[in-house]
Amino acid sequence: MISMPENVKYIISQLEKSGYEAYAVGGCIRDSLMGLTPHDWDVTTSALPQQVLSSLDAHNIIDSGMKHGTVTVKLGQDLYEITTFRADGEYTDCRRPDSVSFVTSLTEDLARRDFTMNAIAYNDKAGVCDPFSGEQDLKNRLIRCVGDPDKRFGEDALRILRALRFASRLGFEIEEKTSLSLHKNAYLLDNISAERKCSELLQIIDGEYAEKVLIDYSDVLSVVIPEISPMIGFEQHNPHHIYDVWQHTVKVIVNSPHGKVSRLSAMFHDIGKPHCFSLDEDGVGHFKPHPGISADMSREIMNRLRLDKKTITEVSNLILYHDTRPPATDKNIRRMIHNVGAENFIALLELKKADTLAQNPETIDYKLEYIEQLRKIFAEQTKNGEQFSLKTLNINGSDLISIGITDGKTIGKTLNTLLSLVIDGELENDHDLLLNAAKNI
Ligand code: ATP
Ligand code: MG
Repeated sequence: MISMPENVKYIISQLEKSGYEAYAVGGCIRDSLMGLTPHDWDVTTSALPQQVLSSLDAHNIIDSGMKHGTVTVKLGQDLYEITTFRADGEYTDCRRPDSVSFVTSLTEDLARRDFTMNAIAYNDKAGVCDPFSGEQDLKNRLIRCVGDPDKRFGEDALRILRALRFASRLGFEIEEKTSLSLHKNAYLLDNISAERKCSELLQIIDGEYAEKVLIDYSDVLSVVIPEISPMIGFEQHNPHHIYDVWQHTVKVIVNSPHGKVSRLSAMFHDIGKPHCFSLDEDGVGHFKPHPGISADMSREIMNRLRLDKKTITEVSNLILYHDTRPPATDKNIRRMIHNVGAENFIALLELKKADTLAQNPETIDYKLEYIEQLRKIFAEQTKNGEQFSLKTLNINGSDLISIGITDGKTIGKTLNTLLSLVIDGELENDHDLLLNAAKNI
């Protein structure tokens, strides 16, 4: 029922030949039991790292974390991590054990793992080794801590986000005690590095089953991103909306295409709303400058989460323009394309569409029509080469230098002015015409 790749069988048999125990363990067994194809295979063994080395062909070994008990082996194109049975020592900082010690029993090793479904081992001789009834929980689609949840989340708070990640990816329920403990201990996430939290967060918002997790655990997400907190329960008092700001946001997230840029743009597109709310005399709510405020806030949050510069720029730009709706003319659309970049224009349309679909159903038809109109014109312009950027402008800095414009700042300004003229259809993208125009700017 579990079919291990030949390479994994080989590793296990080499270790067994040398007199050690060895098993495939963790995510690969969980996925196999669910009928999914594992993306990698990890091995756990009674052999110490040095003994792993001498049991296997040395030239395949990549030294990785040997002192923590992990040896990485490369077979063919694939990497396999072989980790010695291990128990974690005391945790005093909610993130890393002060020490790890090697142990002799498989059960002790499985006991340090996070969830019962991740604490199952297998080899062809012993079959499934499952001292914490992970298989039963898998059948019932339950995420349950191995042992006492308060203690386990106290040891390593990242497990809190791992639970949400698995729930979002697999659509499992989180078992009641584990769930209560997760809410209770969420504040411990402050001890975890931004990078590790961010990596989990991206997977949580990208999951097939994200909607329920994002609603049920909004308090936990608010620990990672405190700016989420004011969105929760914030009523919009506006005929375009039937959801509060967070409910609406969650719907936009799950209506968006998968992928980092789209999902992050969705998560942050309205994050500024609670900070610019006003009620008019008819009792209707408005959030006038919210795209700009949301874009600024998103930049700050993404910096804090240590996201890369390119992602931050793309996401904050999409947010800035998510609510712009000029008449669908050639010129306006060229402007919009220029604002977000041609490579992100479809992402902008998808964000607008996801946003629309999360609004009052009675108001969405004409909004969707408008978006499709933008899509059509964009496609035509792409086909006819009618989109313009500094790159496709038929004039460049050297051309300007040749006519005596030598100051860097002036060159930049001039090129942008020319680009604006071309985008607005006031000037053809023709080298000689551009050069002439440059002389008169
Ligand atoms: P994925 O399919 O996403 O790789 P995975 O379960 O394999 O999921 P990994 O991060 O690769 O997750 O970890 C491998 C195994 O190590 C897990 O299945 C689990 O048994 C254990 N593990 C990982 N992180 C923790 C942790 N923070 N606390 C306890 N056990 C952990
Ligand atoms: Mg894994």
